[in-house]
Amino acid sequence: MRMTLAPELVPRAAHRAPTAWRPDSWRGLPIDQQPDWPDPAAVLAVAEDIALQPPLVLPAEIGSLQHQLASVATGRSFLLQAGDCAETFRSCTEQGVRRKLRVILQLAILLTYGSGLPVVKVGRIGGQFAKPRSRPTEVVDGVELPVFRGDIVNGPEPTAEARIPDADRMRRAYHHASATLNVLRALTQGGFGDLHQVHAWNQEFVMASPAGRDYEAAADAITWALRFMAGCGVQTGGLQALHQVQLFTSHEALLPEYEQALTRFDAVTGSWFDTSAHLLWVGDRTRRLDGAHVEFLSGIANPIGVKVGPSTTADELRALCDRLDPDFVPGRLVLITRLGADRVDELLPPLLRAVRSTGHLPVWACDPMHGNTFVSKSGYKTRRLTDITAEIAGFFAAHRAEGVHPGGIHLELTGDDVTECLGGADEVLDTHLGTRYETACDPRLNASQSIELAFQVAELLRE
Ligand code: PEP
Ligand code: MN
Repeated sequence: MRMTLAPELVPRAAHRAPTAWRPDSWRGLPIDQQPDWPDPAAVLAVAEDIALQPPLVLPAEIGSLQHQLASVATGRSFLLQAGDCAETFRSCTEQGVRRKLRVILQLAILLTYGSGLPVVKVGRIGGQFAKPRSRPTEVVDGVELPVFRGDIVNGPEPTAEARIPDADRMRRAYHHASATLNVLRALTQGGFGDLHQVHAWNQEFVMASPAGRDYEAAADAITWALRFMAGCGVQTGGLQALHQVQLFTSHEALLPEYEQALTRFDAVTGSWFDTSAHLLWVGDRTRRLDGAHVEFLSGIANPIGVKVGPSTTADELRALCDRLDPDFVPGRLVLITRLGADRVDELLPPLLRAVRSTGHLPVWACDPMHGNTFVSKSGYKTRRLTDITAEIAGFFAAHRAEGVHPGGIHLELTGDDVTECLGGADEVLDTHLGTRYETACDPRLNASQSIELAFQVAELLRE
């Protein structure tokens, strides 16, 4: 008997690189936000070493994410991309990875429970070590120092010595990413991601908060639903979806040296894959069309994220879509808008219309963090939870008005009990920011604030 596969199950050829593209064809093009390496030969030597190491993720997994993003682009799933602004080598511990996974699983299950949609989970994890910065230097205690550019480049300590870019950090980044993935794979496949663990994902310090209590109630309902299914004779033992989760990895592809070293040709699909993560994105500061970053990303078959800030014009966005998605593959592009709560209503609709007129079918995701950052009276870089939720609400409203699927959210968060963003039911005030301000770069939502946000997004998805 001949089987006909549903259209979405027919395997697609992966994105093929343009003919003139090579993993190193970005070299010589204008390039922003690069470290001033004191020893460029050392950078090449480290990159050569990394090129001999095993891939961190495999083309088949990347293909699976591509397939799931196509389902998001066509309105049948929702994307949750979340994690630290900057991962650190120090937080690469079993407990550290477990706590990050935990809060992502909590958010994902709340979104699924609230909306009935499958949630594609992508962490800013396993390689999110490089940071673009608004200024090349900063003044600390009256001394001007080069800025911290992420653990893959230099050290965060406020000394001239720590801030010197060190090529060996690129090698360490590879090994820390590898160790993170090792723990992630063990946790997601070894029972921690089992839906029957839904209560165990809630941490003690969260349980006492209003969001934590609401989470417990939802977890009770999910546990009862599982019992109900078992009571009805549904054999859940064999349902892999209930017992394992899939968490994909992603980071900003800021250092093409590192990305090139992990880019491999896959003979099965005839495509190039950047095996440093499943999804790579280009930042708002490095998305220039004639630049090295866009050139590099145009040739790899991984799904590509593009940060879309307030300065993005409709023409630019159309050109980026044509350049990065010449074959019009649904979900190959994830357009991550970060326009600010004040401006999303004005700026987003024309961008939605511009892209629709091209025929590209990207995933539209809302990053409500980066357009809402400010320095508070107490001197901390922070964000208000109310601005974050307002930008998401504006994002949903614009999509509904234009008849486009609001595909996902992109968050900077942590499973830890930090005080970096203002607000929430257990209100973090300006005077609290100094108590546990632990981020290596931008302020993250803590676990309770994240859960509170997930309830609100689930509500928006249901409307
Ligand atoms: C980030 O995601 O941490 C970041 C720097 O974003 P953007 O490129 O949108 O400013
Ligand atoms: Mn950030």
